[in-house]
Amino acid sequence: MRLENISMDVIEDKLRKLENRSLRVNAEKGEVDRNIGELKSIKSIVRGLENTERRTKEGDERYKEYREGKLSYNDCFASYYDPGKYDTAYYFVSRISGEDIIANKEFEPKLYSSCPKCKKESPVIMSYEQTEDSPEGDTWEIEAFIICCEKIHKIKHSASSSRFLTIE
Ligand SMILES: [Zn+2]
Repeated sequence: MRLENISMDVIEDKLRKLENRSLRVNAEKGEVDRNIGELKSIKSIVRGLENTERRTKEGDERYKEYREGKLSYNDCFASYYDPGKYDTAYYFVSRISGEDIIANKEFEPKLYSSCPKCKKESPVIMSYEQTEDSPEGDTWEIEAFIICCEKIHKIKHSASSSRFLTIE
């Protein structure tokens, strides 16, 4: 038997259009999610730069007090900042030499690199963290990048089985 009030042609046409629309919506959702992820990363890098500087300066201050005999060894080192061990540390890059990415201890932009999109120069930033901590072996990673056009542009990556942060 046939349903007189239903046209298969109309249904198939409508189905095709809805499926295409669904693909477009999904693609757009993917792009929006990627943009959200990128902006959240940029936000945590900006916070991270501030945190690393603050914690380093606090650690230096405690070490100075220890050297002056105002703080005990335990009080100094119990809370000593160990960059990248329990957080991701961020620095401006002083220079890149071969495989080495070297942090600037002044916490100020020093090395610049141009954005692949708009060609403007931006300060090179680096992240440093322990990404693997196990009896089979540790992994410490450094990554250099710039932030421009609301995107993170990676420049260089380097990994080691032990701490290898160089600051100068
Ligand atoms: Zn740009």
